[in-house]
Amino acid sequence: MLEFEEALARVLAAVPAPTSENVLLNAAAGRVLAERIRSPLDLPSFDNSAMDGYALRAADAASAKPGAPVRLRLAGKVPAGEMFAGKVTAGTCVRLFTGSPLPLGADAVVMQEETRVEPNATGEVLIQAPVEPGENIRWRAEDVKQGSTLAEAGELLTAGRIGLLAAVGLTCVPVGRQPVVGLLATGSELQEPGLPLAPGRIYESNRLTLAAVLKRAGAVPVTFPLVADVLAATRNALVEAFDQCDAVVTSGGISVGEMDFIKHAFEQMGGELYFWKVAIKPGRPFAFGRYRSKLLFGLPGNPVSALVTFLLLVRPALLRWQGATDVSLSVHPGVLAESLVNQGGRRHFMRVRLDLAGKVRSAGSQASHILSSVAAANGLVEVPANTTLATGTAVPVLHWD
Ligand code: AMP
Ligand code: MG
Repeated sequence: MLEFEEALARVLAAVPAPTSENVLLNAAAGRVLAERIRSPLDLPSFDNSAMDGYALRAADAASAKPGAPVRLRLAGKVPAGEMFAGKVTAGTCVRLFTGSPLPLGADAVVMQEETRVEPNATGEVLIQAPVEPGENIRWRAEDVKQGSTLAEAGELLTAGRIGLLAAVGLTCVPVGRQPVVGLLATGSELQEPGLPLAPGRIYESNRLTLAAVLKRAGAVPVTFPLVADVLAATRNALVEAFDQCDAVVTSGGISVGEMDFIKHAFEQMGGELYFWKVAIKPGRPFAFGRYRSKLLFGLPGNPVSALVTFLLLVRPALLRWQGATDVSLSVHPGVLAESLVNQGGRRHFMRVRLDLAGKVRSAGSQASHILSSVAAANGLVEVPANTTLATGTAVPVLHWD
């Protein structure tokens, strides 16, 4: 039985090198950048006003006070998006709005709230407070310098990064190709939803759970029909899924019972099993193998085991496949508000709920068939073998959503 780190290292080592494709920026959210992106522009691209107000020479307003305003001649108005043809000279000002280009000659903007225009003197502006040179100006390139790095290869395209790339005028970005992942659920007891349950049957839930986390990991799920616990049917289903997909994730049929056919069927079709069994709870019977250039992730059928092994061992592989640098779940610091007990000999990834105050509690029963505690959980805490983590222990919470 492999230790978790060894299993993960072997999975990551088998992931094919990423290949890239160009996608429109409006379809790039959640994708992994394939190349470093440098800025084609300065940002801002020109000096501009941070306020609705008036461009002036700061020296002109040095003595301004509410009771003794400085009177400047209004030389023009520049709406955002337009340019001022003239120049701000001593004794004059120009009406600006947030984002209006700063006219030549001006070195500050006084905000509108510090000014007054008398009804019978609309060609004049009364400045009621001094401004520092540079005040209320957004300088060219203060955000981004032309040629500087906006994002690195391997970084995830978050909303913020997409906004930055859009702001410098990019429309297309090179990203890692997304693996297409087939989802197979095995088990003769499984039933599709939509009909009343036959006696002894259960509704199948793993494919939908896994499709949800697969998409969050940037992969493209393809859901295949249910597979009965029959060797030939399992083999045929695997052949078809490998034919259409870059990787196949199965659930169930991977344990030691004589009705567990995944490993046998995979080897029959020419797949090479790299390892089977990892020393974690839940999820011990996890299997991993390669068929040609494609990968098999054999997850246990218990819904909790399937999800946890996916998060710990499959998600990182799918992210690395797209070229992601950081493939681990995000870690949030927490403090146990109750003890977590692991009486077993394998490390236990327990379902927990981390609250906004940083307190961590068990999300409910930790048995691997209990779905309500998965639904209630927002993270996992690793409890070492034969260990009790006492109330008050600081723990890293592996976060997923
Ligand atoms: P197995 O790994 O095939 O032995 O399945 C372990 C347990 O998980 C059994 O109780 C199965 O009925 C259940 N199970 C397996 N696959 C699924 C699935 N796709 N959806 C819901 N429960 C499942
Ligand atoms: Mg089964």
